[in-house]
Amino acid sequence: SAFVLSAIRDISERKQIQKELQDSNAELARANLAKDHFLANMSHELRTPLNAIIGFTGTLLMKLPGPLTEEQDKQLRTVQNSGKHLLALINDLLDVTKIESGKVELNRELVDCNAIVEEVAATLRPQAESKGLELLLTVPIMPLLLHTDRRALSQIVINLTSNAIKFSDYGHVHLTLKQHTASDNAAKTVEIAIADTGIGISDEDQAKLFGAFSRVNTSRQKAPEGTGLGLHLSQKLAHALGGKVVCRSELGKGSTFVVAVPEI
Ligand code: ADP
Repeated sequence: SAFVLSAIRDISERKQIQKELQDSNAELARANLAKDHFLANMSHELRTPLNAIIGFTGTLLMKLPGPLTEEQDKQLRTVQNSGKHLLALINDLLDVTKIESGKVELNRELVDCNAIVEEVAATLRPQAESKGLELLLTVPIMPLLLHTDRRALSQIVINLTSNAIKFSDYGHVHLTLKQHTASDNAAKTVEIAIADTGIGISDEDQAKLFGAFSRVNTSRQKAPEGTGLGLHLSQKLAHALGGKVVCRSELGKGSTFVVAVPEI
């Protein structure tokens, strides 16, 4: 009977533990929901005044109320740039929160990947050329079609290509689109590689590249703008599409980021 008693005690203890676990899961879910609400509300509350600051400094900069001294012009530009930076940060944070809470709605459609890569190249080429960088493009002759979310894929390629431009001072940025054929029966996967001849990233830094707010090799990079959320966001988007972003890089030689996305 001692055995039966201890078995009963075991069962009731297990039930107690199970209940505690359920309670803490529910509490976690509630806390997560509260966090999402808080961030969504806060982002909205922050964006409204920021838009006013950016808008009205714009009006002042157009010298509508009257001429500005050089010093006033410089200070106003700093106000405006800081406002824009903060706005970008808030928008990125909001995107990260949305993805993390599974609130990003993917819109699956037949996407022409050639068109996506060509559009990104056309949009960013002026930025590249203004820095003396050549923007090269290699796409298959036949349009590569994939069932996926056009906006998410496009956003990832834009992020990676603007980084490639931002962190290169000479040479080229080369976008290559191809179909990846791992094995015959594997799902169709599209790969877009963005290769640059820029500053490169050390092995150590590559390990933390995709974390939030990771701004690596800061001593080397001159560009102070950027939120450190672009790669984090791109990786989350790629995961949402069932794919991933990987990086190959050598310090001082350049980097290649590859986004691989399977049919969803
Ligand atoms: P941001 O560009 O806004 O700082 P990202 O998440 O896009 O944030 O990138 C994080 C960091 O990774 C950058 O600050 C930079 O140090 C490094 N990085 C990203 N892309 C490249 C690249 N193509 N070449 C060299 N360094 C890069």
